[in-house]
Amino acid sequence: CVEVLDLHKRFGALEVLRGVSTKVHRGSVVSIIGASGSGKSTLLRCINYLEMPTSGEVRIDGEPVGFEHRPGDQVRKRSAREIARFRQDLGMVFQQFNLWPHLTVLGNVVEAPIRVRGMPRREAMELGRACLARVQLSEKANEYPARLSGGQQQRVAIARALAMQPKVMLFDEATSALDPELTGEVLEVMRGLARDGTTMIVVTHEMAFAREVSDRAIYLHNGLIEEEGPPAQVFGDPRSERCRQFLAKLL
Ligand code: ATP
Ligand code: MG
Repeated sequence: CVEVLDLHKRFGALEVLRGVSTKVHRGSVVSIIGASGSGKSTLLRCINYLEMPTSGEVRIDGEPVGFEHRPGDQVRKRSAREIARFRQDLGMVFQQFNLWPHLTVLGNVVEAPIRVRGMPRREAMELGRACLARVQLSEKANEYPARLSGGQQQRVAIARALAMQPKVMLFDEATSALDPELTGEVLEVMRGLARDGTTMIVVTHEMAFAREVSDRAIYLHNGLIEEEGPPAQVFGDPRSERCRQFLAKLL
């Protein structure tokens, strides 16, 4: 599981996260909603340490990512290299897919397993094909990214993240850069991952999707969790007036 404990993040005078705590259990899907600027991306980027939290911690299966507790109450900051190893447990999918244009679809997917994990090429290819099957792109394995639609490119990006066999998948508005008609196929792939028991943290503007696939929803406001609970509560009958207004504006 992923535990977030009293996470703070400040950029100069701007405090973007002001004490966020939550827990994502293995196999569960948590969606994060909130207005632009509320800190959703920053929260994801702190969870995988693309941003260094100002304070607080993130634990993956009980292990703090940023530092190590040593006997006798000592705490040691982890090196960038150690943190990078933890980051491999967290697959990230961004709004922009950023595929390597000079590599085929399968080449994109197997690059990190081979280079970062040191996986033998044959094994990586087998794994890569399995990941492409999960995003329903088996027939595009030898195609180049430029020849794919945006929705297909984003599915390759998802396969690429899956190929590192992460413990958790983080999605930051994975469909926001797509034309509406291409959004559905990406959401369908994400739905499949959720059904298969993939642990997921999903930042999204797709409220119907979030309501349907999440085990829990979080409404972030000004760097704090303002509402958190089962989707039926958060989307259907929120306790927070702000959350209620946020959702009402989207209709
Ligand atoms: P959106 O829905 O628009 O993606 P968000 O909820 O993801 O918004 P963040 O991207 O987390 O919001 O940004 C939260 C606040 O932090 C914003 O005010 C943003 O300008 C600020 N911010 C984010 N990254 C940085 C940075 N590297 N340096 C300075 N300020 C930053
Ligand atoms: Mg964002």
